[in-house]
Amino acid sequence: MKKQLQVMKFGGTSVGDASCIARVCEIVKEASRDHSILVVVSAMSGVTNRLIEAATRAEAGERDNAALLIDALRKQHDVALNALIHDPETRKRLSARIEELLKEATRLCDGTALIRELTPRTLDSVSSLGERLSAPLVAAALKECGVETEAVEATELIVTDGYHGAAEPAIERTRERCEVRLRPLLQKEIVPVVTGFIGATPEGVLTTLGRGGSDYSATILGAAISADEIIIWTDVNGVLSADPRLVPEARTIPEISYREAAELAYFGAKVLHPKTLRAVIAAEIPVWIRNTFEPRNPGTKITLKGSGFTLGVKALTAIKDVSLIAVGGPGIVGLPDVVGRTFSTTASVRANVLLISQSSSQNDICFIVASTDAKRTVEALRQQFAQDLAHHKVEHITLDPNIAIVAVVGENMRGTVGMAGRTFSALGREEVNIIAIAQGSSESNISFVVASQHMSKALAAVHREFSLDMRNANESAPAAK
Ligand code: ASP
Ligand code: MG
Repeated sequence: MKKQLQVMKFGGTSVGDASCIARVCEIVKEASRDHSILVVVSAMSGVTNRLIEAATRAEAGERDNAALLIDALRKQHDVALNALIHDPETRKRLSARIEELLKEATRLCDGTALIRELTPRTLDSVSSLGERLSAPLVAAALKECGVETEAVEATELIVTDGYHGAAEPAIERTRERCEVRLRPLLQKEIVPVVTGFIGATPEGVLTTLGRGGSDYSATILGAAISADEIIIWTDVNGVLSADPRLVPEARTIPEISYREAAELAYFGAKVLHPKTLRAVIAAEIPVWIRNTFEPRNPGTKITLKGSGFTLGVKALTAIKDVSLIAVGGPGIVGLPDVVGRTFSTTASVRANVLLISQSSSQNDICFIVASTDAKRTVEALRQQFAQDLAHHKVEHITLDPNIAIVAVVGENMRGTVGMAGRTFSALGREEVNIIAIAQGSSESNISFVVASQHMSKALAAVHREFSLDMRNANESAPAAK
């Protein structure tokens, strides 16, 4: 019988050092006994940040500081290499490969330092080196454990557009490449170890899918090769009902729908890259979130329907590093197209709008973007509305960085009366002031904006209100894999 195909993605902390990589090898080895396995890896933890830091230093002309950072990376990888790989031939080959990749980093940083300009394309080339370093290391470690493997760079597999830093995949072309490059390996029971985070344009120019994008790599590849399931191995026990650092009573949700998980990811629950599930919805491939450090824990299974039975509210999430932008003034009532112009402006600077709210008096449109996008967005808006500001048709374009969004998520909130009422009464009791509210018509998410210092209190209050710390009687845990 044909073996089931599992894509296993290991995040940065899962390949954080030699002992973590050794755990990964155990997990893959065990699974490979009765499954075909495709491994996708992130960079070792902290590596991507260091690479970006090196590139940024180089841009500022600090060539020596960039070199120091690259040296630190050499050390980190050498330590792991020496601990994991005992075969002298493999060690020599791998050591040479690491050196080659770090030389590439040095060349890119030197070039950047020389012209004092860091283009998105160069930044992608530098930041992708972490995965290009980790994949051969993990592949070699697996080989030492007796698993047949081959490291593959995703530039050979994932075809993307040319939008550096947030490239989008071209699924059909990716599928063709995977059939040619990966299928034969899988048929020979060789485990491909693919670099996460990376793709390339049809012309072969390297791109990245965005920070944290290795999750997305896993689902893109899983869909392209028609995997039976995808397991995202990380450092938490799946999707929790809230961030346990903010709500200690938070617990793992055994099963959740694509839509719920996507809402959570989008609103800052750091377990998944927000785009991850897009790739698998059509093919209904289940995605598991599991803990590398507790491999016996079944984690969370993400499916089309989710568990279906639970109470309306499934989980809460919150994001702090966001800013509220308001475009307003009494004059905007008579001004046609303010909404259209506002959001074509946000689109033109590629700012991701997380929440929109407009008062019915139409005096004010407010919306939320990531704080990193805020300044750019406000500048673009001031330019777009320069005439209107001068003539006082638009009175103000303001920015408030001291806010947080809290999202209450659950597919079955739809049609369940009183969810919003209970949420806001609970907040009222705790005297949390609500700055703005949005409920999408999908009704799987009620989001509200509070001052950032009220975020934890708001989360705790709503978590308690819906007893999210207790498993619903109807909710059965899916079978462990
Ligand atoms: N290494 C990349 C990052 O840190 C991608 C990933 O880990 O998913 O953003
Ligand atoms: Mg990640």
